[in-house]
Amino acid sequence: MKPISAITASDLKQLRYILHDIDDTITNDGKLLPESYAALWELSRAGFKVIPVTGRPAGWCDMILRQWPVDAVIGENGAFVDYFEGDTKKRFFHPAVPKERLSEKLNEIKEACLKEVPGCRVSKDQSYRICDLAIDFNEDVHLGLEAAEEIRAIAERFGAVAKVSSIHVNIWFGDYTKVGMAELFLRQQLGEDRLEDKVLFFGDSPNDEPMFARFPLTVGVANIRPFAESLSHLPAFVTEGEGGFGFAEAAKLLTRLKKG
Ligand SMILES: [Mg+2]
Repeated sequence: MKPISAITASDLKQLRYILHDIDDTITNDGKLLPESYAALWELSRAGFKVIPVTGRPAGWCDMILRQWPVDAVIGENGAFVDYFEGDTKKRFFHPAVPKERLSEKLNEIKEACLKEVPGCRVSKDQSYRICDLAIDFNEDVHLGLEAAEEIRAIAERFGAVAKVSSIHVNIWFGDYTKVGMAELFLRQQLGEDRLEDKVLFFGDSPNDEPMFARFPLTVGVANIRPFAESLSHLPAFVTEGEGGFGFAEAAKLLTRLKKG
């Protein structure tokens, strides 16, 4: 990981899309800082298309798309993208999302997690989800990574996909991912190619690793450092600040280099 100050104007020549994780990438201790929100506006006003890529629920994505300076939102770990076509709000589902979404099976997994992992709970944003089950281990409860791994193992026992974020274990059926959806949306819906030169991604944790692996232009905020040894794909650049402070620091640099 090189310091973000090492990024050059020539790295950014074709850059059009800023994709970014939300939790602990643009937030600090669960809050969206004024610095991060201003950075989103700076990037958008500089002409970048800004697309949050998150495990957060459909209900949040609807609000984010309507109120934040963003062009689309990839939600529930790649299950769908919310975006506007003219004045019309659209939701594009990944073709691998099963028809019967929050199925019986997810219910069985929920019961098993609650029974087998003491202290875990269904996330408080579960009511606003349409495709996945989120079990909280580190948002309103504080159980540590061992519990997250137990939850993940239970989900996998039922044949589900499970990803550990910094706060929840997200559990779903269907062969879709954040990176798969990013690629599908940019190629199919927006007609883009050569994504390698056009996309820059910001993340903070191991669940962002597939994005770090897929795109050459990637930035980790400083709080990724403790995970560095466990990652086989590191971001290309790292910020000095943590969370939203790091995001804001990098956004300033990107807009300055774009303006030349
Ligand atoms: Mg995160």
